[in-house]
Amino acid sequence: MHILGVRVDNLNLEESLDKISSFLADGRQHYIVLPYADFFVEAEKDSEFKEILNKADLSLADGFGPVLFSPCFGEGLKGRVMGVDLVLALFEKFWDKNSFFLFGAAEGTAQATVDRLLQDHPFGKIVGMLNGFVADSAAIEKINKTKPEILLVGLGMPKQEKWIAQNLSKLLSVKLAIGVGGAFDFISGRVRRAPKIVQRAGLEWLWRVVFYPSRWKKTWRSVIIFPWLAARSLF
Ligand code: UDP
Repeated sequence: MHILGVRVDNLNLEESLDKISSFLADGRQHYIVLPYADFFVEAEKDSEFKEILNKADLSLADGFGPVLFSPCFGEGLKGRVMGVDLVLALFEKFWDKNSFFLFGAAEGTAQATVDRLLQDHPFGKIVGMLNGFVADSAAIEKINKTKPEILLVGLGMPKQEKWIAQNLSKLLSVKLAIGVGGAFDFISGRVRRAPKIVQRAGLEWLWRVVFYPSRWKKTWRSVIIFPWLAARSLF
């Protein structure tokens, strides 16, 4: 289905993992995007970004907003697939089969994320990591040297999606790249995730307003602008 002209695939986490298994086996390169409300607002004004989202091999709704408004645009979405949950489930399923590289977030955060992931699977194949504030050429060089199959890119949107679109073909070993936003911040524990009950109620935005007020712009766009654009497109 499409929400405000952006394709979203109606798969739950388990179905997404099955799809990813087939991606990893077919010998081609793939990328996945995880749009939440702010993505649709950004895509309205950035056609290059919208095209990148629509060309993704899989587009999974990371946010409560798109799920809530999806019935207005066709079939309702089954539910959210959150970036953090996808990363954890992906590592749980493929830790011994495929090699991983974590690219993004502040110095030390990727390392803390790796430490957290390896707690459960100490022999997990994590071949490299890099903070998200290095030159593209340095990142490409390191990724090509360590030859991962799964590349997790946490540079925030729309930077990470553009980075993947621009560079994936230069990363010969990579079979799957995913824009994971702030997932490393959450997995490493550097940013506190809203409690499950708050997530389920769709009130993460309120949690962010209280605990991370500097993110007011994202919250405004997700909570006010996205519903406004969705409502406007209906009339
Ligand atoms: N980030 C980065 N390089 C940059 C800009 C941002 O690595 O040039 C990281 C930032 O440290 C944070 C993540 O990208 O870990 C963005 O998280 P945010 O939650 O803002 O992203 P979103 O999920 O909203 O796309």
